[in-house]
Amino acid sequence: MENVNKYIVLGKAVLGVFAMAFLCYSCEEVEQVADPGLLSEQEDLRLDLKQYDNGSRVMMQAFYWDVEPIGEWYTVINSKLADWSSSGVDRIWLPPVSKGQSGMFSMGYDPSDYFDLGEFDQHGTVETRFGSRVELENLINQAHDNDIEVIADVVLGHNSGGGKQDNPFRPGDTEVFSLFNEANGNASGKFNRTNEHFHPNDIHENDEQALFFEKTDLCHDQVYVQDWLWKRDDSVAEYYKKIGFDGWRFDYVKSFSPNVVKQWNAKVGGFSVGENFDGNAEVLKKWVDESGSPAFDFACFYKLEEALDRFNDLTYLEGDMLRKIYPDKAVTFVANHDTEKDKNVNNKISFSNKMLAYAYMLTHDGYPTIFYSDYENLTFQKTLKNLMEIHSTLATGPIEVLKLDQEEYIMQREGSANNPGLILYMNIGRRAKSVEVQSNWLNKNIIDYTGNMDKVLQTEAMGKVLLEVPAKSFAIWSIAK
Ligand code: ZN
Ligand code: ZN
Repeated sequence: MENVNKYIVLGKAVLGVFAMAFLCYSCEEVEQVADPGLLSEQEDLRLDLKQYDNGSRVMMQAFYWDVEPIGEWYTVINSKLADWSSSGVDRIWLPPVSKGQSGMFSMGYDPSDYFDLGEFDQHGTVETRFGSRVELENLINQAHDNDIEVIADVVLGHNSGGGKQDNPFRPGDTEVFSLFNEANGNASGKFNRTNEHFHPNDIHENDEQALFFEKTDLCHDQVYVQDWLWKRDDSVAEYYKKIGFDGWRFDYVKSFSPNVVKQWNAKVGGFSVGENFDGNAEVLKKWVDESGSPAFDFACFYKLEEALDRFNDLTYLEGDMLRKIYPDKAVTFVANHDTEKDKNVNNKISFSNKMLAYAYMLTHDGYPTIFYSDYENLTFQKTLKNLMEIHSTLATGPIEVLKLDQEEYIMQREGSANNPGLILYMNIGRRAKSVEVQSNWLNKNIIDYTGNMDKVLQTEAMGKVLLEVPAKSFAIWSIAK
């Protein structure tokens, strides 16, 4: 629980250059996207998109902060897998599964015993907040039966919930809780730890950046720590793999060397994504280069937040993003457990702009993450399912920006030989808009596959077409039958 603040502090540090004086336009009451149900006339013209399956899928972040009911989360997720799979989800990202100091209240980011996945009686509970180890294994099996991979959230920076112990490198400090053994927060008895496995120690003062919980910040230069985290055949990484996990989401990677991620992945393989909480695309690129792992595209997230929400100016989308540098290494998102709990409006995309943000993310490159609370929100679900279908079909081929100004953004995915591609038209202005663009479609009827525009347009012999979009909304045009 104490771990919560680090994100807020960091978010503010990242955004420190922006004055708080900018008001968030999200506060306006806006009529959001219309119901995506298509008119019957248009329904007849709609191509069956399944024929254009481009193989792209999405990851579901399968939790929000302080999920409830306590002790039953794995069961809740289990019941949703079939629907998620049919909507195009190929991976689910679970919260950290090991027992944390806060016991049944822990969201897992305060790890105490890496090998207690809800089966040892410690920190006041046998189960974790999410359930028992058996329920976790059932969930993983069920996910695999639905062709969904399961991604573990691994917290390798700091530990919590150990016993009190003096550290000779912290003279006079009597409040160090670095003792982890069978009687002190590590009932499994595997990967017992003492003060020499944290900082400072006989090797050095700190890792790369020990910003938080440095007293119990794991030292990844200690061979013993490396052995237990990933090198041994009964290491944490190998144990998670044996439980059935298919990949890794590395928490707060700023607190240790990118080489840790590189070595972990070399040992156990699988999908990997790092949380490098930084809006600077160059920082993300450097981390990707050094770790070899994809990263969450915080640069894309903040550009969307600035464009749609903070400054109401789509030209912010011209800014640097990881997806523009390494589309195959960028895991995009428009909300997560941190952004949605953050009171700072500049760290979240407001409710009224959410679908515009998802429309952008799901038509561009990068591997998108869908946030549980957005998908399971019935206000959004139909729209999201529609956008996810477009993502896995028409959203393919090179990206070309056809128009960009403060209120309008028009982007074309060129498609491929037998895939017509799409044109995304976003409008954050208060009035409906239209503009002539050059499309790849010659003499075609085109329709908006989101249903926001109930019109059939015709492209000219050379591809020119007058596109339309409603106020404060978006349309995704492609060819009709
Ligand atoms: Zn160290
Ligand atoms: Zn905002």
